[in-house]
This record gives sequence, C-alpha cells and structure tokens, in this order.
Amino acid sequence: MSVYLDYNASAPIDIRVLDAMVNVYKNNYGNADSRTHDFGDQARKVVENARKQVASLLGVHSDEVFFTSGATESNNIAIQGLRKYAEKTGKKHIISTGIEHHSVLNTIHALGDEGYDVESINPDKSGRIDARQVLDKVREDTLLVSVMHVNNETGIIQPVKEIGDALTNKNVIFHVDATQSCGKLVDEVRSLKYDMLACSAHKLMGPQGVGALVLRKKNYVLPPVLPIIYGGQQEKGMRPGTIPVALVAGFGKACELAAEEHKNNQTICKKIKNSILNSLDHSGVVYSLNGDQQFCIDSAINICFKDVSSEALMMSTKQYCGISNGSACTSKDYSPSYVLKAMGLSDDEALSSVRLSWGNNTELTATINAFNALLSTVKSLQD
Ligand code: PMP
Repeated sequence: MSVYLDYNASAPIDIRVLDAMVNVYKNNYGNADSRTHDFGDQARKVVENARKQVASLLGVHSDEVFFTSGATESNNIAIQGLRKYAEKTGKKHIISTGIEHHSVLNTIHALGDEGYDVESINPDKSGRIDARQVLDKVREDTLLVSVMHVNNETGIIQPVKEIGDALTNKNVIFHVDATQSCGKLVDEVRSLKYDMLACSAHKLMGPQGVGALVLRKKNYVLPPVLPIIYGGQQEKGMRPGTIPVALVAGFGKACELAAEEHKNNQTICKKIKNSILNSLDHSGVVYSLNGDQQFCIDSAINICFKDVSSEALMMSTKQYCGISNGSACTSKDYSPSYVLKAMGLSDDEALSSVRLSWGNNTELTATINAFNALLSTVKSLQD
C-alpha cells in the first residue's frame, strides 16, 4: 500500500470528525437559518457550537468567525471585499508576496488589472520573506498587506508575527492566509495580530469544502469588508447560502481536537521529520533542502534531488508513496514551481524538487520504508 504523504494538499479526515458529521447528517438535518421549527433551532445550535470551537482554537470571539467553503473563498472575500472601501478612501496600494497561494495571488493580480498598485515581495533561498521589506513599503495609501503564515509548498513559516505587531497602530488592513498553520501552530496563530485570517478544515483533518474567514474587531468594529456574492443573510450576509451544518460541525470538531492534541501531534510530526532527515543523510543521494529548516514546520519538507526530474520520480515511486511537486492547484502544470522560482532556485532545481507532508496519524515505519524506497530510486536515477 502506498503511503499518503501529501497532507498539505489535503489531510485525511479524523474518524472522530467523521463520526460527529454522520451524527449531524442523521439527526440535525434542518436549515440553521429556519426560524419556524425546532429542526432549525437544533441545526443552529450545532453551527453556533462549531463557531465556538473554531473561535477557541484561534483565540478569537465567536462573532468574528464567518464560515465559508474554504480558504480560497475566505481569501477572495477578504481581498475583493475591500473594493468599496478602497473606492471610498482612495487607498489602492496593496503589498503581498510572490509565494502566496493562488487564491491570494490571483485575487490581488485581478485587482492590479483594475488599477490597484500592487507590490510583491519575494523571499531569498531561506524561503522566508523579510518583514522589514514589507514594512518599508507601507505608505499613506496602503490598503492591504497580505502575507501567508506557512507556505504550502515549502512549509516555511513567514514573519507574520513581526508584521502584525508593526502594523497594529497603522491604518492598514493586515490579512493572513493561515491555511497551513491553523491547528498546527496553535499558540503562534493565537498570538498573531491581524485584521483578517483565512483557514480551511481539510488541512487540519476536517472535511473538504468548509473553512472560515476571521474578521477581527477593532473598537467593536469589523474590518470594512463587504460580501462578494449576493444572497440571503446567512453569516450576517458576509457569506450568503445555506450553511452546510454537518461540514461546519466537522470543522468545529477538528478544531476542538487540534486545540487539545496539537502539542502531541507536533511531537509525532517532528519525529517523522527527523527520521526522514536521518534517512536522507545516510542515503548517499545528492540533495538539498529547499528553505531554511529552522523556519520550517514539522509536518513538511521540500527536497531538491540533483538532476532528478520530479515528474519521473513521482511516477516511478507511486507504488511507495503519494507526494507532490507544487501545490495541488497547479500540479496539472509541468512548469517549475513559482514558489521555488521566487526563492531564487533555477528552473532545473525547481523541476527536481518534491514536497512530502504528513500528519499525526502518519505511520512512522511505513513512511520511512517508503521514503527509503524512494531514495533508492533517486540513487539509481543519479548514478
Ligand atoms: N491557502 C493555502 C496556503 C493553501 O495551502 C490552500 C490549499 N492548498 C488554500 C489557501 C486554499 O484552500 P481551500 O482548498 O480550502 O480552498
């Protein structure tokens, strides 16, 4: 059996989350916004309980959590939702990075096409952007700074703490895409200062198709974001459409579990990473690690195997493990990773790089066996 090592693309659902969802599908099938019967009331209670669980994981208030279909939608609302405010204030300068997920990158790009002044910062080979470079670009007319917390391809943690702290007293909206850190870097996320944050349940062993946009209040006032689709008053009008009660309940449960278990999960993930590094060290293959590992999350690694095509490697090791060479959203594309290119890697280096990512239920022995088999394939391709 092939070992699944692509948790950054989507993590398997925790069985306890699935059980909670099945229970909701069976027993709480009402519409959470129905006001005329108990079925609606019960569904609403499930949703509000989940909202508390998400808020508690993130260290925010329940009324700052808006359920969405996932981080792509959260990022779109956060960024596109500022259009009216930008028109009104004339603030149309946006600062972001060249390593954001496409849901941020392309949304900001679209605003650039509409005449917004967009500036993008790239990291160096460490994979980490320089907070100073971001902050130095802030101007009177800066509308938004948008920086991800953990990069999905490299696992490198970005200096959003420093940026958030420095922006607190500035009239600039700070958005953090925390999709890859939420539920993993629990204490770090709680300590961040930001106006808007995006996350997604399926990256923390919850269901696919649900996420949240967190809008932090300042002096009791939400950031000036408006909905980007029209519909009913669900999620206070911020995200119209019937709330998927079971998905939301699953998201809540995944958050509750992450809050309780993240320290233990981190220990498990670190052990897997150390074993992978140890195998690499003893393998005799020619490799380099993409990104400075002192800033890397414990549940991912991005490795460049010199002169080995990542496509060929992935195809010839499918029977051992499922890995990737870029974000799933771009993996149909054979061009080199834009994240690795932004870090200054050559096309050849980027095309020889693969990402492995795992979680608390990844089996250590099976993983190392699969990884050793992959390393043997690399060795035969390099010899
Ligand atoms: N941001 C990041 C950093 C991600 O890794 C992903 C998923 N790959 C997303 C946003 C989009 O999340 P979703 O799948 O929930 O739309």
